[in-house]
Amino acid sequence: MQKIYKIVILVLFLIGGTLFLFNNFISNYNNEIEKTEYKINGIEFAQKIQKFILKIQKLRGYSQFDKFLVDESEYSNILNSVELIKTDVKKEMKEIRALKSLYPELYDNSYDYVMDNIIIIIDGSIDDKIVLYQKYTHAIEELKERAYYLGFKSKLLLESDGDKYFFVEVMLKHLPNLIEVVGKIRAKTTKAILDNSTDNELLYSIKNNCLLCEEHIKQIYKAVDEIYDDNEKTRLFSLLENINSETQNMQQYVKNTVLLHDAKIEALEFFKISTNVIDKMFILYTTDAEFLSQKLNQKLEKLKKTKLYGIVIGAFVVLLIFLTIASMLRSYILYVKSEKKIKNNLTSIINLKNDLEKCNTIEEIASSSLYFFANKFGVVQGAIYIYNEENNKLYLASSYATNKMKPIVELGEGLVGEVAVQKKGIQTDLKDNKKINFRIEDISIEPSNICTVPLISYEKIFGVLQLGFMQKHEIVNNEDFTYFIDMIIGFLRNAKYSDTNRQYLELIDKYVITSKTNKKGIITDVSDAFTKISGYTKEEIIGKAHSIVAHPDTPKELYEEMWETILQGKIYEGEIKNLNKSGAEYWIETTITPTKDKYENILGFSAIIRDITDKKRIEEYSITDALSGLYNRRFFDINFNKERKISKRDNKSLALLIVDIDYFKQYNDTYGHQRGDEILKSVALAMKSLFKRASDYVYRLGGEEFAVSFYTNDKESALNRAESLRKSIEDLKIEHLSSAISNYLSISIGVTFIPKECAMEVDEIYKITDKALYSAKNSGRNRVVEATINL
Ligand code: GH3
Ligand code: MG
Ligand code: MG
Repeated sequence: MQKIYKIVILVLFLIGGTLFLFNNFISNYNNEIEKTEYKINGIEFAQKIQKFILKIQKLRGYSQFDKFLVDESEYSNILNSVELIKTDVKKEMKEIRALKSLYPELYDNSYDYVMDNIIIIIDGSIDDKIVLYQKYTHAIEELKERAYYLGFKSKLLLESDGDKYFFVEVMLKHLPNLIEVVGKIRAKTTKAILDNSTDNELLYSIKNNCLLCEEHIKQIYKAVDEIYDDNEKTRLFSLLENINSETQNMQQYVKNTVLLHDAKIEALEFFKISTNVIDKMFILYTTDAEFLSQKLNQKLEKLKKTKLYGIVIGAFVVLLIFLTIASMLRSYILYVKSEKKIKNNLTSIINLKNDLEKCNTIEEIASSSLYFFANKFGVVQGAIYIYNEENNKLYLASSYATNKMKPIVELGEGLVGEVAVQKKGIQTDLKDNKKINFRIEDISIEPSNICTVPLISYEKIFGVLQLGFMQKHEIVNNEDFTYFIDMIIGFLRNAKYSDTNRQYLELIDKYVITSKTNKKGIITDVSDAFTKISGYTKEEIIGKAHSIVAHPDTPKELYEEMWETILQGKIYEGEIKNLNKSGAEYWIETTITPTKDKYENILGFSAIIRDITDKKRIEEYSITDALSGLYNRRFFDINFNKERKISKRDNKSLALLIVDIDYFKQYNDTYGHQRGDEILKSVALAMKSLFKRASDYVYRLGGEEFAVSFYTNDKESALNRAESLRKSIEDLKIEHLSSAISNYLSISIGVTFIPKECAMEVDEIYKITDKALYSAKNSGRNRVVEATINL
């Protein structure tokens, strides 16, 4: 805002300054022009007066004639001349009076008074020649004075410069004076000649005027001599020379005729001679006046020209200033406008961003975007399609103010499909192009113009935006528009990918059993699939220890091994038996991965779990003996072989027990086969409860024959465990009255301790153990016999 004040002040200052200077310049010139015009007018005025004076002087001269002293015919000529002059005088009086309105500033009311007096004189009936002379002379003096005074009024005498001053002096002062002196000489001498006068007073006056005449001519010489303009000076000098000689001539007549009475000249003759002198003087006067007038007119021309140039230059300068100001204002307005536009767009972008951030789905983003376009750009209808790469079709995400958009568009189909192929915006005027096969339609508002714009992300078509306007809208190439488009594409893309991710996550959540725990094994998250298999809801299980699902059967060693692995940051893979909420067991195959921060610190663990209960069931079924629930012979063959391999690899000692119930045939015979089966189960249970370490395996090899295998450190403990088994069966005190050795059921055991360094194969081990059992039978039964091994 401060900037505009500065501009306004600067503009006012410039305009003010220019106008001030310009005004000064013009008024200065106007003043000069006016003054010069005054001077020119003054010269003209003075010339008129002087011309008029000449007539009055002539009348004064003629008034001295006496009709009795000249010829009748001559007198009538004189009267005629006088009448003519009087008519002229009256005419000129009118002209002079007319000057009142022409040059009001030069005109003086006293002219009227003087001229009124002159009328009285010329129309009156004064006969006395002396009185007439005096009255005329008085009028002439008055006029002469006024003419001189014009020199001041028109500033001719006040501000004349250089040569002009002398011209003015000659014209307004010296020549009128000279002419008047000669006029007086003419009148007085005429009278003196006519009267043949000896009147001293008259003669003295004539003499005096002759002296004055000399004096005035001298002064004119002096004045002309001062003139610098050589041409003019020469011209004036020659005229003056002529006047001078004529005047000398005239004075000679005066001297000879009137003063010395030496020679005689007719009065009329003298009148003519002196009038001729006066006329010549008046020629000088006119020459002088015209020269002055010409000089002043030249000056006036020059002034007017300069003023015109001044006006043109001034106008040009003013125009320049205005142009500068206009361009300054224009750039300022553009600046303000663009700033406003940027601010406006920025606000719009922020608003759009805020709106879009609230949206969760592609549909919501598309809908919000269309609503935004409607508000910001006056869109009356619109639609956004999103491209699907899987089937190369465009799906309608949202439409605005229309419900007639096709939900699915093929590539190349209609405007939308075409734009998706060309990846270039299309502007369609519906009035011009009625043939389009795909367009926005609506019941109430039908746009007259449609812009179809591709939404491009990483140079690939992402979707198509179609907007309908009431007027032609250059939105396709609008730079501002691209900001909004880019932002919308960004949001749509994120939504699309998060949508895809969400779908994946939903699938994972639904079908993949996962769990996450912290470092202490407290559950932090589980998938839906996990809740299904475990029977716990998320609320119930999150925050609990993972051991909540552990099966009591699962050996401790397995958990120890698992924790050791994952706490080292390694991945653990294994099959684990778990318990669900309702107490049913289920088997899982789990892959536990430690989750780490960027510094490799373990944050927790995530497990991807597979339900292998069914597999385990089948597996168990194929390796389990149905009657006893112990592993069957088949599993013994597999497992013992495997244990033997592990013992060799890991340098572990292994023990194998083969167990056979004593006199069981007799038992069956005595108690029945069914009872026998019950006994088999009891023996199995007893064996299982005795051998329950993770690496202990109990098998029913067939009939009433069992086997046990386990890892052991030394022979002693192997023999001890075999002995405890034997004793535990004896301690069951199952009645067996048909046994030859006891009243209670007993077993015989063959034991083989397989030290870690032993190289024996499974078959041989089995053989020697069986042999040991055989010798246990033979040596009295209900005992443990150790096999002898070959190292
Ligand atoms: P000893 O071993 O002490 O020499 O005498 P024995 O009578 O036990 O002899 P042997 O081990 O050879 O006999 C096996 C008997 O076990 C035969 C059969 O009557 C009985 N038997 C085998 N399988 C089953 C079974 O599944 N159920 C029952 N009830 N009896 C079985
Ligand atoms: Mg047997
Ligand atoms: Mg037996």
